[in-house]
Amino acid sequence: MEDAIRGDSGKNKVMRLKQLAVISGKGGTGKTTIVGAFASLSDNKVIADCDVDAPDLHLILHPEVITREEFRGAKVATIDRDTCTECGACVDICRFNAIEATTPSGFKVNPARCEGCGACVFGCEQDAITLNERISGYTIVSQTRYGKMVHAELKVGEEASGKLVTVVRTTARRVAEEEGCEMILIDGSPGIGCPVIASLTGVDLALVVTEPTMSGLHDLRRVIGVAGHFGIRPAVCINKYDLNEANSNEIMAYCSREGVPVVGKIPYDAVVTKAMVAGMPVVEYSDGTVSKAIKALWRHISRTL
Ligand code: SF4
Ligand code: SF4
Repeated sequence: MEDAIRGDSGKNKVMRLKQLAVISGKGGTGKTTIVGAFASLSDNKVIADCDVDAPDLHLILHPEVITREEFRGAKVATIDRDTCTECGACVDICRFNAIEATTPSGFKVNPARCEGCGACVFGCEQDAITLNERISGYTIVSQTRYGKMVHAELKVGEEASGKLVTVVRTTARRVAEEEGCEMILIDGSPGIGCPVIASLTGVDLALVVTEPTMSGLHDLRRVIGVAGHFGIRPAVCINKYDLNEANSNEIMAYCSREGVPVVGKIPYDAVVTKAMVAGMPVVEYSDGTVSKAIKALWRHISRTL
């Protein structure tokens, strides 16, 4: 993003706000390990945890909450008992079985089942049902040792994660501008659905983390296709490449055919799990081969950005 921003001082220090998204075709490829390490290795950035369905970056970065705002991403039906004539029509209309006849309270909506589709609102001849926004989760701005972090909590059972990712990114951008940061480091959602698209929109580079398995190659193809569709420049990192070098070679051949650079190959090492258990970025926990490979990867990425 070619945006000029100003520093804390308000002086005319013009910088270019860059956005790096680290994504993967599915969860569990080591994406968060790499983002945690990048957080440790980079300066002057805001970190955005957009993996809102399964956030775990906080386990490494230990954020301390500064602000917490309600996120209203879904709607829920409510029945006005004074207007309801208890005809029961809405029970048949609701295909999610969210409306129940209760004694002695009459007809009630079970919020855990209500999808907010609004069919019952149109079906109630008494106009006794309304749709209201509900709190689906929270967006949070926190302080970490590595700079400000924007993250989120979704309430159990809520699925409004694409919208929530957009709110996290908008908030991260605001914080980056306020702080005069040069970069937003995004821990993106895995897969190819709404949340990953919301994670990718407008970024300068998408680093796709993959593993040397056949399903890893399949997922990689899909996620590179999504990045290409939205005009996002991708680069690939093969995590645990040495667990199956034949599959790693196949991934590299695929990337070569597609013109996608493979910018990192990280070996398998149990130290990654140990660092996670210790709650530390792996590059601070160890100076072994994994940390050296991630540092080399970061040098490459920071030059590319
Ligand atoms: S359709 Fe309307 S009036 Fe009938 S039970 Fe439902 S809320 Fe009550
Ligand atoms: S809004 Fe849709 S899901 Fe919710 S109670 Fe009405 S019909 Fe059922």
